[in-house]
Amino acid sequence: MAVERPDTEAYGTGGSPDGHAAVGQLLLTRRMRDFTTGATLSLLPALGSIVALVYTFRDQVDLAVLIGWATVQLVLIAVYVVFDSILDRESPSLGELRRHWRRFVLLQWLGSLAWAGIFPYLAPVAHGLDAVVLAVVAIAVLCGVLLVHRTAPSAAIFHVVVMAISITAAIWTGTGMAGLPALILLALFVIALLGSTREQERQIVEWLDAEMNRREATDTVRLLLNDYEEHSSDWLWTVDEAGNLRNVAERFAMAAEKPAETLEGKPLIDMFMADANRAIIARHLSERSRFHDLVLKLRINGEMRYWKLSARPRDDGQISGVARDVTSDRMIEERVAFMAHYDNLTGLANRYLFNERLRAALDQNERVRNIALFYLDLDDFKAVNDTRGHLMGDRLLREVGKRLEQEVRGQDLVARLGGDEFAILVETRSGAGMLIERAHSFLAAIRDPFEIDGQIYRVSGSVGIARSSDGSCDAEELMRRADLALFAAKNKGRDTLALYDQSIDLAARERREIEIDLREAVARGQLNLHYQPVIDLQSGSVVGYEALLRWYHPKRGIIGPADFLEVAEETGLIVPIGEWSIRQAFAETAKWEGHFRIAINLSPTQVRSPHLVKVIAQSLHAHGIAPERVEFEITEHVLMQESSISMGNLQKLRELGSRIALDDFGIGYSSLSYLRRFPFDRIKIDKDFVDGVESSADNQAIVSSITKLAEALGMATTAEGVETRDQLGLLRRLGCQEAQGYLICEPVPGENFATADAVDAAMRGGAVSGILAYRRTREASVKQSPRRAS
Ligand code: C2E
Ligand code: CA
Ligand code: CA
Repeated sequence: MAVERPDTEAYGTGGSPDGHAAVGQLLLTRRMRDFTTGATLSLLPALGSIVALVYTFRDQVDLAVLIGWATVQLVLIAVYVVFDSILDRESPSLGELRRHWRRFVLLQWLGSLAWAGIFPYLAPVAHGLDAVVLAVVAIAVLCGVLLVHRTAPSAAIFHVVVMAISITAAIWTGTGMAGLPALILLALFVIALLGSTREQERQIVEWLDAEMNRREATDTVRLLLNDYEEHSSDWLWTVDEAGNLRNVAERFAMAAEKPAETLEGKPLIDMFMADANRAIIARHLSERSRFHDLVLKLRINGEMRYWKLSARPRDDGQISGVARDVTSDRMIEERVAFMAHYDNLTGLANRYLFNERLRAALDQNERVRNIALFYLDLDDFKAVNDTRGHLMGDRLLREVGKRLEQEVRGQDLVARLGGDEFAILVETRSGAGMLIERAHSFLAAIRDPFEIDGQIYRVSGSVGIARSSDGSCDAEELMRRADLALFAAKNKGRDTLALYDQSIDLAARERREIEIDLREAVARGQLNLHYQPVIDLQSGSVVGYEALLRWYHPKRGIIGPADFLEVAEETGLIVPIGEWSIRQAFAETAKWEGHFRIAINLSPTQVRSPHLVKVIAQSLHAHGIAPERVEFEITEHVLMQESSISMGNLQKLRELGSRIALDDFGIGYSSLSYLRRFPFDRIKIDKDFVDGVESSADNQAIVSSITKLAEALGMATTAEGVETRDQLGLLRRLGCQEAQGYLICEPVPGENFATADAVDAAMRGGAVSGILAYRRTREASVKQSPRRAS
């Protein structure tokens, strides 16, 4: 932004291009100011000179002329004073300034003329002291240019020239040639005065240049600052030596949502909440040292905000700085920090924070580090998720989290480790009894029904407890122990707890060994199938066999599926093991005479396997077994997972011609609903109901309704685990069609295959002892089998 400088006085007085208005105004104001100061200063000497001349020459010249002259001078002075006072009152525009200035210059010209006129008039009569007075006044008036006209070059030159002529005339008329040296002196003096006038003007122009540059610079800075203030999110602030806000900017006040007047003079740091950063800033302000990007908290209309402040001291003793609202950045940071440490769903600590807190707690002084870990897992939460939907499952998890939070003290930490697994970290010195008590309170807390959207939900959980006081252990070990205890609790059943001890660890170690060994079991030929006959309750004859897996472990002997199926499921080993079972069952069935049914158990993981149907179809084909002879038994766990692959597989098996049975019916809590999900061919009534059927009227009612329901749905029924003749008789009367159990025959290996005839003969004999005897011979032969297998 270049500013052109008008270089003459004429600029200020004459017309000027609009763009120069500011410069003109500046120049004229300066000239006017200097002029009025000089003129005011010279007022008294001027009046004195007038009085002196009138008094000195009152007798030598015509008094009327003298008085007339003095009057003119006084009028000019009076006019000047009036103009000056008018000017003082207004803040004139450029046009008015110019008008004033013209008037002033005119006044000066008139004044110069008035003075110039008097000296040649008086000189001829001036002698002795009068001449001295006249000379002094003449020189003083001539020199008045230095005081009065210095900022108006035209008036100054006019004055000097007119006065020089006047004095020359005066000297000439008074002394003639004798005054020549005085005239030379006057000429030198006039030259000096004209030089001074030029120099004065040069200085004014220089000043104008400097002033314009200065203004230009400040204007630029101001413009930049305005722009900055308007467009940036930073606000400027200034405090004085005492740290009180000064010149509070509008934007700063707006940001603080307080009027600028209210903030003015208030200590800056009083705006913020006390914390470490505020103390640091207070120190910087009092030490007058710069600081950078310190974040302070403040409340604006009850809302928490964060401002970031930077500042540096200024030369004038004040301190200037910028402030920026970083609340949203902070929010994001806090959100990120929160998400890193807290569980999104429940708002509880997440696994990461839990680990950190556990480690920190264990790192503490040995004496205080008595830590108890509670791991809590909901029983069958998957079923809730599957049947009621994930949204409801999530809400239930939130509610469980809340309940647990209510159960703990402030210093305890409740975390959600993932899924339906919660953890509670407690620092306590209480013994095992108290910890078990607390675990019971957690179980009780979640056992209370939950009401969500008017619906009642019942859940239960299992709790595993581990303590740091049980021998030295680090965070990893403590978590492992809590995990093992939880696992042990889950194995005991629902709604139970377990405190970690050595036996739990042993069981876990065993489990790991089983897992390692199981990986080799198929390859090493350690697996075998036993077959349990199923009889028709009306005819009493064998209609089929159920294939049941056995593991001939080289060291542990024969292991039943109950001891290794879970590991197999969890590790996925069930898929190759299951495929082996299927092939083996078909291969052995193909060797035996008779057209009996063969039942094969399928676990959820197997049913979910995409290759299941292909494997079955291939081995059916390979061994020439008609699909109609095969029945696949699944539990309701298969349906709970609601996988489309599972449903598709079951459907395809049925399309092959095989049948599907629902195993262990009655022990799940929503079994009836599963009956509607898939058109089963058979229901296998769980041993739990068979067990009490002779003694419990309830069990009789249940079995009777199951058989009626099955009949209505076109399904067959088989009772499992029949161990007494009473049970057998009762089941037949309650409408059950088939039965299997130790009473009839235990599962036996294929090579000791209990032929239908043998079973029939034993059953027809009616003697339980006979069957038991039969069974014993089988057992004896089974015991030799492992040797064969390994
Ligand atoms: P399940 O299908 O309910 O099999 C019946 C279980 O009851 C068998 O246990 C059988 O030995 C036992 N049992 C039969 N009669 C009686 C009785 O009168 N009294 C008593 N107390 N028990 C009786 P096992 O053989 O230990 O099998 C356990 C479970 O392992 C089976 O339950 C089945 O779900 C699963 N399983 C067995 N073999 C296989 C297999 O090849 N593949 C898959 N996926 N699972 C299998
Ligand atoms: Ca079964
Ligand atoms: Ca069963």
